Amino acid sequence: MKYDEIMVRYGELSTKGKNKKYFINKLARNVRDVLHDLPQASVQANHDRMRIYLNGEDDQAVIERLRPIFGIQTFSPVVKIEKDIRLAEQTAADLVESVYKSGMSFKINTRRSDHTFEQDTNEVNRLLGESVTERLPGIDVKMKEPDITVRVEIRDTGIFLSVETIEGAGGLPVGTGGRAMLMLSGGIDSPVAGYLAMKRGMEIEAVHFHSPPYTSPQALQKAKDLTSKLAAYTGRIQFVEVPFTEIQEEIKRTVPEGYWMTVTRRMMLRITDRIRADRSGLAIVNGESLGQVASQTLESMVAINEVTNTPVLRPLVSLDKTEIIEIARHIDTFDLSIEPFEDCCTIFAPPKPKTRPKIVSVQSFEQAMDLAGLIERAISGIRISEIKVGEGSLQKQEEEFSYFL
Ligand code: ATP
Ligand code: MG
Repeated sequence: MKYDEIMVRYGELSTKGKNKKYFINKLARNVRDVLHDLPQASVQANHDRMRIYLNGEDDQAVIERLRPIFGIQTFSPVVKIEKDIRLAEQTAADLVESVYKSGMSFKINTRRSDHTFEQDTNEVNRLLGESVTERLPGIDVKMKEPDITVRVEIRDTGIFLSVETIEGAGGLPVGTGGRAMLMLSGGIDSPVAGYLAMKRGMEIEAVHFHSPPYTSPQALQKAKDLTSKLAAYTGRIQFVEVPFTEIQEEIKRTVPEGYWMTVTRRMMLRITDRIRADRSGLAIVNGESLGQVASQTLESMVAINEVTNTPVLRPLVSLDKTEIIEIARHIDTFDLSIEPFEDCCTIFAPPKPKTRPKIVSVQSFEQAMDLAGLIERAISGIRISEIKVGEGSLQKQEEEFSYFL
């Protein structure tokens, strides 16, 4: 079956009163962004529904792009025909046949906004129903919870028929909940944290620390590839890479081994917070999960978090590793995350990090370091690129530029 339009039903945003228009506009923008390389498709956002006119664009490709978009409850591919009852009968039968399996039941559900149309809704239901049972003699008619519902809308501009209702991603449109910096490593957890942040409407920018030559170009590319997977939810994500080599070498030189991890994380958080402020972000998101590793005890979180008052959101805090992995598989980041390219933290990880770091000790170790200078140099070496959906490691980023403060 070849479809002409996709009809999108809004999710939770329909309860947002005055903000509804803002939510719908954001959603429309996100949909346009994920369809950027399917240029014939055009989006029209109305207050109750969104219509995507395919204009010859591949319907399956568009459907796949819509599945991850937050703020969509369900959507249906729609066939548009002339206002001709015979054609409607035939199309209804074609549609049911395209999804029918033996033993299934169906009903026709007609709405008519064009009241000049010759047949009324009951009449249309009856005629189209007969056409379906003629084509598929074994099929049952069932008014309550049928397996197949053919939705028919008779409007001024034509007759619109659909047979499938596809579950959307739920959640809230990305960008309606403010901007946050996602601390993105190459691991399993942080991409999942980014996904969950976006699910509730946050726009994220990825901040990634790398330490060449200790970390490889592949490790950096892996973080970008993970970002490209996350871009499926919004169309594009800004990727901020921070050079971290000097800081890690300095920590290794001046700080006792047991505190490397705490000081490293504090430096990352300080720098991320600077970037957040410069880029009008409201919060920071990371992939910490309580008790997973030494740095993720509550005591350790307190010691790390001491460097800022900015909210540090931890969407994974109460999830088990198995639950996190399940989401990572669902968002297709798992296989990338387990590729063996080590990031900066694995390489400089001490054998026994303190699980109960003392803030006074951390502060005294940091006094031996030129914090301001180290942070300034890291910030001045930042590079920012925009990563779009579908841009895997084979495609080069289009825009890449240095970032000056
Ligand atoms: P992940 O799977 O996300 O790497 P993890 O279980 O390995 O998490 P840690 O290594 O303790 O946990 O890192 C905790 C969090 O710190 C990460 O989830 C991430 O948000 C942040 N982080 C760690 N390394 C980096 C990095 N190189 N760049 C940016 N953020 C990082
Ligand atoms: Mg990690």
